[in-house]
Amino acid sequence: MTDRESMHHAVSRGWREMGTLLVHLARDLPPDARGTLVNQPPTRGSTVLFPTVADMNRNGTRRYDHEVIYGAMGTPIQHELEAAIAAVEGARHTQIVSSGLAACTTPLLAFLGKNGHCLIPDSVYGPTRRFANTVLRRFGVETTYYPPLTDAEGLRAMMRPNTQVVVAESPGSHTFEVQDIRMIADIAHEHGARLLLDNTWGVGIFRPFDHGVDIAVQALTKYPAGHSDSIIGAVSVADEQDWHVLRDTCIQLGQVAGPDDCWLTLRGLRTMGARLERQSRSAIDVALWLADRPEVARVLHPALPSCPGHAIWRRDFSGASSLFGVVFRPEYSQEAMVAMIDSLTLFGIGASWGGYESLVLPTTGGVVRTCAPDAPDCGPAFRLHIGLENPEDLIADLSAGLEVLTGAASYGD
Ligand SMILES: *Cc1c(COP(=O)(O)O)cnc(C)c1O
Repeated sequence: MTDRESMHHAVSRGWREMGTLLVHLARDLPPDARGTLVNQPPTRGSTVLFPTVADMNRNGTRRYDHEVIYGAMGTPIQHELEAAIAAVEGARHTQIVSSGLAACTTPLLAFLGKNGHCLIPDSVYGPTRRFANTVLRRFGVETTYYPPLTDAEGLRAMMRPNTQVVVAESPGSHTFEVQDIRMIADIAHEHGARLLLDNTWGVGIFRPFDHGVDIAVQALTKYPAGHSDSIIGAVSVADEQDWHVLRDTCIQLGQVAGPDDCWLTLRGLRTMGARLERQSRSAIDVALWLADRPEVARVLHPALPSCPGHAIWRRDFSGASSLFGVVFRPEYSQEAMVAMIDSLTLFGIGASWGGYESLVLPTTGGVVRTCAPDAPDCGPAFRLHIGLENPEDLIADLSAGLEVLTGAASYGD
C-alpha cells in the first residue's frame, strides 16, 4: 500500500466495517405475508388507550422497558431509533432527547447533586461549559476545568471527595485534543465518580463502553441525521441502575424528540457508513494538502501527528470523521483569514456539521479556554467540515482562497 492508501484505510476502516450493522439494525419486524415496508413510517401519538384500568396501571409500571404508555415517554419510532443507537454505541440502553445539547445537560442533571463537583475538559463544547457555569453553579454544583491532555497524576490531584461526574470530549471541540479515555475512566472510578463522554465526533469509530465510559452522549444532529435538517440527541448507558436514574430524569424533564426527527435520523443512519467512508477519505486528502502549504502552521486532524493526542487516536479509534481544524501562521491576520473564508464558493459558512455538504467556521476569538492561553506562535484558525463533494474541487476552492489570504496580508502591509 502507498502512504496515501494506508492513510485512507486508517481513517475509513471503521466506517466500512459498520455498513452491515447500519443497514440491518432495528429492522427485525415479523415477516408479513401481505408485505412489509423497508422503512416503517413515523408514528405519531400522545394518548395511548388501554382496554381496562388494570391494563393501564400494569403498563404504567413499565417505564424502563421502552413501552408505549404516553407520547411524552416516546413513540415506537423513537424506541426504534433508541435500539439502533444503543447498537452503534455498544450500550445497554439509549434515551433519545430533543438535541445534542440536551444530551449533554440532561445526564449532568441526573448524576450531579447538591454540593457536588464536576470535572470538565477545557476543550469542551462551548454550550456545555456555559451550562456548568450558570445552571449547575446556581444549584450549588462546582466545576473545575482540567487540561484535556492531563496525565493521570494531574487528574488525580483534581479529584475531590465530592466529585460525582468527570466529563470528557474526544477530540475536543475546535482544538481537537484526543483524550486518554481509559485512564480518565479508571481515575473517575477509583474516586466513585461516573465518566460522561461526548462521543459526537467518534460515533461508530470509538466504542465508549469498551473503554470504561459510563454515560455516552451524541449530537445525532451531526453524522447520524447527516443532512443538516434535524436537531436531536442521544444519551446511552451501560448500567441498569444508571438507566433507571437517567430515564426518570428524562421523563421528569419532559425530554423526547418528535417522530419526524427520529424518522429522519433513522433514515440518515442507514447511509452513515457509506457517507463517512467517503467523507473521511476526502477530509484526510484536504488535511494533507493543507499541511503542506506554507501559509498553514498546523492541521488539527487526529489522524495526523500534528494533532495533540494523535497516538491515542491510533490506539483507540477505528477511523476518523471529516471535521478538523486549521491554524494559520501568525503573520496572517484574522481579517485576512475572514477574506479567505468569504471567498470560498463550496464551503458554507455556518455552525454545526455532519451533513452532506462542506462547511467552514472561524474558530479564533470565539473559543473560551481557562487552562492555557493560545500558543503565542499561532495565527488565526478555522474549522473545516468536509462533505460529499469531489475533494479535488474542494482543494481547488481552498487553493484560490489561500491566494486571497496572502493577497489580503500583503495589501495590509
Ligand atoms: C453540535 C454538538 C453538540 C450539540 O448538538 P445540537 O444538536 O446542536 O444541540 C454537542 N456536542 C458536540 C461535540 C457537538 O459538536
